[in-house]
Amino acid sequence: MDTTMDVDGILRPRMLINGELVEASDKATFPVYNPTTREISAHVPEATQADTNHAVASALAAFPSWSALDPTARSAPLRRLAALITQHSATLARLEAISMGLPTSAFHYAHTCASLFAHYAEAWPRIQGHSSLNTPGHLTLTLRQPFGVAALILPWNAGVHFLGAKAAPALMAGCTVVLKGSEKAPLAVARIAELVVEAGFPPGVFNVLSGHGMPCGATLSEHVDVRVLSFTGSARTGRAIQEAAARTNLKKVVLELGGKSPALVFADADVDKAARQTARSVLVNSGQVCMANTRVYVQRGVREAFLERFVEVFRAVKTGNPVLEGTEQGPQADGVQYGIVMGYIDGAKQGGGKVLTGGEGRLESTGGYFVEPTVFVDVPEDDRITKEEVFGPVVVINTFDTEAEAIAKANDTEFGLYASVYTRDISRAIRVAKAIESGYVAVNCTSPLTGRDLPFGGYKGSGQGREGLLYSMENFLETKSVIIQIDSE
Ligand code: NAD
Repeated sequence: MDTTMDVDGILRPRMLINGELVEASDKATFPVYNPTTREISAHVPEATQADTNHAVASALAAFPSWSALDPTARSAPLRRLAALITQHSATLARLEAISMGLPTSAFHYAHTCASLFAHYAEAWPRIQGHSSLNTPGHLTLTLRQPFGVAALILPWNAGVHFLGAKAAPALMAGCTVVLKGSEKAPLAVARIAELVVEAGFPPGVFNVLSGHGMPCGATLSEHVDVRVLSFTGSARTGRAIQEAAARTNLKKVVLELGGKSPALVFADADVDKAARQTARSVLVNSGQVCMANTRVYVQRGVREAFLERFVEVFRAVKTGNPVLEGTEQGPQADGVQYGIVMGYIDGAKQGGGKVLTGGEGRLESTGGYFVEPTVFVDVPEDDRITKEEVFGPVVVINTFDTEAEAIAKANDTEFGLYASVYTRDISRAIRVAKAIESGYVAVNCTSPLTGRDLPFGGYKGSGQGREGLLYSMENFLETKSVIIQIDSE
């Protein structure tokens, strides 16, 4: 494999602090296992509180000179990093496959990550304040200035994507960065840390840590020198981060959290397309996607046709070793995720839910954390599997009769990240899109890869703030008013 981390077949990645690739100061590591074979893939540094503080101190020291640079000078290492990530995309794909099971053929995150660094390298002309003479006797200015040290905490399900989505705008806004990858998928992030060195960022500008929520993530959340923290992950951790920020320095917190995304399929829709697309949305990355349509509500008259097509797609998915060409579904990320998903499946069965296909784990038969793509019908609306995020290849399909009922069911959740509506009636599509309590509504499509210039983020318990090409840089910029008297008193 094209990486300097390989020692006798077991990877030993390092962290990036103040421009140096380092082990944890106490040499502690944690193991990462390949979820397909359950063999060890890597020993990864567990950042201590002191390591985390060291990274923040380095970022703080680097901030004055980085933020004072001409933006074209700031953009140069971003452009070089974009090229390096593209060059090493096959390695990054393999590292994700052997740490969290994403099929290499489904790994498009190196491309999105590289394109985000390339995009933001050119985006600095958008950092604009404004000036005005509207206040009599005065010239007023609004300045946009970087916050200072930005902490970026990543989830495991698409870490490489989120690395680009957070670090590129933060750096281009003029912030310096301490980024923590997820303990479940630290390998590709660690390889990118090596590429950060190659790209020539000044020491301290871009620090990359590995480790668990405790102590590394919690230390970042509590750190008084961190002025903005951008987080993608679970609602539970988002709440802990929010509390830590409130207890300490009231740092700005951006939260991209979980979802329980509904799809509403009306009888006048292209039912075949709706079934194919919503089924695929739940299969991508073994259902470990925040936008997956894991609750589908189908209007009663088309229920049978929809179910037939949906189940067909679920049964056709090619499951196997994620490093092999043609594999569409790999294992769940690790034993913990496998246990959580199987717990939801068993609970729904006990609660009277009917399994149309799947419903079993394949740990015993394959040796890896594979879960059969599973369709439930007739699950009570208050069952945990209908209410909570499962993060597995599992869907609950229920029915509705009226538009009002469909909207009420879609909104009967603490989440509000993403929703889809399928109908050929344009007025209904707009009415429903307006009524759904969700940060993103897709009409006659789902989980689109396009629309990246749109804001993305949650209503209700799915988060606060928005990310997106035109929006993310805002997260890292303060706004300052300056008023200058130009008339004599
Ligand atoms: P998680 O909350 O378990 O972990 C996310 C990160 O937080 C990890 O790096 C972890 O080490 C860190 N962490 C854990 N405890 C912490 C603490 N106390 N303080 C600070 N950091 C801490 O989430 P996950 O399992 O990695 O990711 C899956 C979740 O992410 C799902 O809920 C999914 O829906 C959500 N997600 C949301 C989006 C979105 O854009 N809204 C995108 C992808 C994933």
